Amino acid sequence: MHRSVDVKRFLLIHVIVLLAALLLLYVYRCPLNYFFHIPCLGCGVTRAHLSVLSLDLGTAFKYHPLFFTVLPTLLYVSHKNLLTKQLSNKVETVYFFVLVSLFFVVYVVRLLSNNLAFLQIN
Ligand SMILES: [Zn+2]
Repeated sequence: MHRSVDVKRFLLIHVIVLLAALLLLYVYRCPLNYFFHIPCLGCGVTRAHLSVLSLDLGTAFKYHPLFFTVLPTLLYVSHKNLLTKQLSNKVETVYFFVLVSLFFVVYVVRLLSNNLAFLQIN
């Protein structure tokens, strides 16, 4: 009995997250870019994932070359309590520091190289 309640809760949470993800993919617009015309570190990630859904990896990399890090990171963060072996706090901290640093590097390189594909609306 308790197990079925957990499965229902598990499925409900994942259906809600999936619907939110689909809403994010098809409706979301970066507020920083939308209101101030300034790209953020993550601009292009959503469109990169839409390109992946269309099996167009080249376009996905143009929109954001680090798009492939986002989903595994979100899955790890949201499910790490379910894992039998978790990363240590130190490894997690280093991972997130490196990841955010890479996003900053990509951001600066794209701005300096005038690679503004990630700003295109469509
Ligand atoms: Zn943005």
